[in-house]
Amino acid sequence: MSTSLELQHTVGKTASLSGTSLHTGEEVSLRLHPATVDHGIKFKRKDLPDEPTIDATIDNLKMVERATTIGEGSVRVHTVEHVLAALSAMDVDNAIVEMDANEPPIGDGSAQPYVDLIKKAGVIAQEEPRKVFHVREPMHVESKTDTLLVLLPCETFRISCTQAGPNNRFAQFLSMEITPATFEREIAPARTFVYYEDVRPLMEKNLIKGGSLENAIVVRGEAVLSKEPLRFADEFVRHKILDIVGDLALAGLRIRGHVVAVKPGHAANAELARALAREQTRRSAMSGSHAMPIGDAGLDTGEVMKILPHRYPFLMVDRVIGFEGENKITAVKCITINEPFFQGHFPGHPVMPGVMQVEAMAQVASLLLFKLTKTTSRIGYFMSADSVKFRKPVFPGDTMFIHAELTRSRGERMAKTKCHCVVNDAVVSEGELMFTFLDK
Ligand SMILES: [Zn+2]
Repeated sequence: MSTSLELQHTVGKTASLSGTSLHTGEEVSLRLHPATVDHGIKFKRKDLPDEPTIDATIDNLKMVERATTIGEGSVRVHTVEHVLAALSAMDVDNAIVEMDANEPPIGDGSAQPYVDLIKKAGVIAQEEPRKVFHVREPMHVESKTDTLLVLLPCETFRISCTQAGPNNRFAQFLSMEITPATFEREIAPARTFVYYEDVRPLMEKNLIKGGSLENAIVVRGEAVLSKEPLRFADEFVRHKILDIVGDLALAGLRIRGHVVAVKPGHAANAELARALAREQTRRSAMSGSHAMPIGDAGLDTGEVMKILPHRYPFLMVDRVIGFEGENKITAVKCITINEPFFQGHFPGHPVMPGVMQVEAMAQVASLLLFKLTKTTSRIGYFMSADSVKFRKPVFPGDTMFIHAELTRSRGERMAKTKCHCVVNDAVVSEGELMFTFLDK
């Protein structure tokens, strides 16, 4: 089954839902719209000028306290985990979640309203395969607070989870395969639960205006307070599984693996999602051709120099190995001790400056944008760099592979790219670079 091709899915039509926001207590309406292949899940803030959208990806994660918050620039969307859990588990890869507030309606504190919404909209297959992540070796994250998440190889997506409250009250365990059917029946109805001692300060500060026994179970000592009786004897651990599904959806991948979770929480779940996304990046970097022979698809130094105005010592691309479709490029730069920056960075211990790697990414991304615009009369100007990380030093003698992928473009005006540099099969640096196009 691991070899069968899985297609991406979206919703069949727009469907809507309204309710109360947990934090502000205000009325929110949410509309779920179909989206094209490779679109992913995006939240749209209909209440703000220009109606900005935020990609539901781990790179946009902003906060993990109590609920999961994503954002881009100054725009935020809070408490995304239940709607993301429902979309992911019900097989929806691409959709727009449009809202007129900064938070989806809390509903009854479960994912049930979202499952109903998705079923109302219908789920339809699209023509492109989805990104499936097969766990090949154990991965894990742990925290000082006894949280441990382990991801193990498995043919299906399975979660085994424990939950224990203060003083090990309500210790529970459940293990199950997550499919649309099991999620709908066993997980989606499980409601949020809170400990009275945790929420009392928030209630006093008026931080959960929309919070009530209608949308959460409150545990006070040994007592369970809720509007309706428990839906499952082990409802708490089921809700923990729900949150794991939602937070891991931020990795943007279909997981084929077994998550073993001890005392999970949003922070650790998000950390595992980040590890997954990083591993996926590493794998796709590895899967590209790193052989030097140059085919028709690549560009040699002379051709690169016809496009880029940069010259020695500022030309950071030796040649383009190839393009993959319209959106991806791989180039190479051999780093030699003769690079002038090594003289001062640092004498006796030559290391390639990180900014030069960013420059290399920008030049490679420009080559991709040039191919896209197919004109030399407009030029892409480097506007900003986000989420830049330098993971490993680059030394003289290293061969650096530079990958760039177009992630977003707005007409002829703006383009966003995700780039990373690879040396010896390891990502050494990465970043998201934004460009604007101007006439030359
Ligand atoms: Zn939750």
